Amino acid sequence: MTEAELRELAGKQAALGEVRGAPGPDPVNAPMIRHWLAAMGDTNPAYLDKGLAPPAMAQVWTMQAPRQGRSPVDDPMAALDGAGYTGVVATNCEQTYHRYARVGERLTPATRFTDLAGPKQTALGVGYFATWNVTWYGDGDEPVAEMLFRVLKFRPRQGAGEERPPYPLQPAVNQDTAFFWEGAKSGELRIQTCADCGRLRHPPGPLCTRCRSSHLTYTVASGHGTLYSYVVHHHPPVPGRETPFVVGVVELPEGVRVVGNVVGCPPGEVEIGMALRVAYRPMDDRLVLPMWIPEEP
Ligand code: ZN
Repeated sequence: MTEAELRELAGKQAALGEVRGAPGPDPVNAPMIRHWLAAMGDTNPAYLDKGLAPPAMAQVWTMQAPRQGRSPVDDPMAALDGAGYTGVVATNCEQTYHRYARVGERLTPATRFTDLAGPKQTALGVGYFATWNVTWYGDGDEPVAEMLFRVLKFRPRQGAGEERPPYPLQPAVNQDTAFFWEGAKSGELRIQTCADCGRLRHPPGPLCTRCRSSHLTYTVASGHGTLYSYVVHHHPPVPGRETPFVVGVVELPEGVRVVGNVVGCPPGEVEIGMALRVAYRPMDDRLVLPMWIPEEP
C-alpha cells in the first residue's frame, strides 16, 4: 500500500466515528477487583465496601482473548503490517475517568480511529503513529472512562553488518528518576527515600506519599528480593529483545516492589516466591538495566 492509500484508508476509518465493540464477557465484579487491588498493593477498603471498581481497571472489563468483533483500528494496522511496518510500540496512553464503574454493570467499549501520522523517521526506524480513542460505556449511555492510545508502527531496521545500535526502549530519565539510572550504572539499586519521614517508595515520584514532603534522598537496597508476581511475554515482538522473556514484580526486604526482567533461568522454571538477586545488564553504551537472577541455594 502506498503512502496515499494509507492516508485514504485512515481517513475512511476516522469517518466511521465511534464504533461499539462487544460488551465485556463478565459484569464488573468483586473477585476481579480484589485480585487487582492485591496486585497493585492498594489497601483502600472503599472500593469493595462501596461496590466500586478502581478507575484504572476500565480496560480490564472488556479485554477478551481472542478479541471479539472488529474495530476501526484493525484495517489500518493490517495495512501497515502489509506495507512492512511490522514493529509496534505503544507511545502514549492517556485515560480520563468520568465516574466509577459499579459492581454488577457490564461495560461496552467503543472505538474511534482518530489519526495516522507519518511516515516519520524515529529512533526505531521509519514509521507511522496511529491514534485512537476508546470510550467505555456502562449501563445507560453515559461514559465511564475513555482512553487515548497511540502506537508507533515502524519498519524494523536490519541489523546485518551494522554496529550494535542503541537499545531502542530507553527509559524516560528526569529529575525524579535520574538517581535510579545513575545507581544502576554504578551497580547500586537505589530506592527513593523521603528525607523527612524516611519512607521508601518505588517507582520514584516528586512527593512523599506519607508526609507530602518534597525533600528526597535514596537508600541503596541490598539487591535481594523475592518474586511477588510475573508474566512471560511471548507476543508481540519487542524491539531489542528476544521473546519469550519474563517480567517480574520483585518484593524487596526494604519494603517496596520493583519491576524488572527475571533472567538466568528458563521462563518455565520461574515461580512466585523464588529468591532473586539483582544483576546489572548493559543494554548499550549508555543504559544499564537492573535485572533479577535466581539466588543460588
Ligand atoms: Zn515523608
